[in-house]
Amino acid sequence: MEVSEQKSKKKILFISGNEKVSGEICTLLTNKYSFYLADNLNAGEQLLEQHYSEISAILLDSMLAAENGRNFIKYVEDEPKFMFIPIVLAAPAIPLNEEIDCLSLGAVDIIVSPFHKVLTERRIENAIRLKDSASFYEIERILKALPSNIYLKDADCKYIFATQYWNHLQHDDDPDWTIRGKTDIEIRKDRENAIAAMEADKELMRTGKGASYIIEINNDNVQEFFEVIKQPVWDENQKICGIVGLINNVTEHEKLKNKLKLAADTDGLTGLLNRRKIQSKIENNLQGLKSGGVSMSVIMLDIDNFKCINDTYGHKEGDMVIKTLAGILMDEKVIGTSDYFAGRWGGEEFMVLLNNTELSEAEEIAERIRVSFGTADLGGIPPQTISLGVAQAGLCDSADTLCTRVDMGLYNAKESGKNTVKAAY
Ligand code: GH3
Ligand code: MG
Ligand code: MG
Repeated sequence: MEVSEQKSKKKILFISGNEKVSGEICTLLTNKYSFYLADNLNAGEQLLEQHYSEISAILLDSMLAAENGRNFIKYVEDEPKFMFIPIVLAAPAIPLNEEIDCLSLGAVDIIVSPFHKVLTERRIENAIRLKDSASFYEIERILKALPSNIYLKDADCKYIFATQYWNHLQHDDDPDWTIRGKTDIEIRKDRENAIAAMEADKELMRTGKGASYIIEINNDNVQEFFEVIKQPVWDENQKICGIVGLINNVTEHEKLKNKLKLAADTDGLTGLLNRRKIQSKIENNLQGLKSGGVSMSVIMLDIDNFKCINDTYGHKEGDMVIKTLAGILMDEKVIGTSDYFAGRWGGEEFMVLLNNTELSEAEEIAERIRVSFGTADLGGIPPQTISLGVAQAGLCDSADTLCTRVDMGLYNAKESGKNTVKAAY
């Protein structure tokens, strides 16, 4: 039976077999609360099942509690859907051991007669607040069901809880170990990431700005990627009192992404950069050159009489020759620097972009490539040759003008009998 319909009032389920007590308390609290009244535990249980989503607290007559109330308290405590509903005992005095039992089972407080209006209200409000802010332990336990690591840190960037440890934390195999009160630097095996996390936390505490990033962890030869999302926790006075974070293991997703990116930039046969990628490298480096960057040169090269190789030894052997040349272009010992990019321009034609390299040095590198290929072991195929054009990028160059010029160098090399290097100016 509902006594008051007023919506703004919190609702209390009052279970009491004593009309005098329930009447007295209801009258006392009628300004602040409305009541569902039950005169026995069964009726109370039914009302609770029907209206639990609206009920803020349960007032339980201690006389009922003393009879069969233990089961009722246990039933409320064990049921997750009642997690935020506190039980407060209300009564004239009951034996001390009964009080202790009820509190041990989960009742939050006991109010006794003579009932004082404000004091009773305060105690009920405190009980509601206590249950509303379900303990960190409880929240942690609930959130553990999710595969993400959800964590909470205090204002000193120390953990209050973290729901998943994964294998980059120390002590992950010790069930008694707790993360509470520890910092990232104290507990993580990946120290560099831990320092970065701590810095990011401090920055977040200072600015109030959330952050989101992906970290890579290499532990025991296992490469993993984690997406970190963190936001500040604000208190009632708009002060940052901690950090709440979400970490997802995105290893599969990241590896796939990296694979796709690599595939999009790479030539399938040779593993060198593809034409689109080497072209964009040239464009970027020209931009760099114009904004005061270092000198840059390019080499364009093409296998001589390649049609002949295909015709004589077959397409498969032709592929092998192309791959052999690609291997030479990947060899830093031949090129003499690691600051370069090599790409397949098309068919059996290649482009090498040399950073920090003047024309004369580029010509020397081109010559080393020519000699290296000319003396390479091609299995059953006799030694073959390549022709190479070389050009240095100027401040007025676009990718087009530079490529046209180096192509001219290559053309001249072919025209002058092949198997040679020609610079174009
Ligand atoms: P030149 O000395 O003037 O360069 O003569 P060339 O015979 O090498 O002539 P060209 O560069 O025009 O010929 C390229 C040939 O390369 C034509 C084409 O069939 C072949 N080719 C292109 N891509 C591939 C490939 O991926 N594998 C193989 N085996 N052959 C290819
Ligand atoms: Mg050719
Ligand atoms: Mg060609």
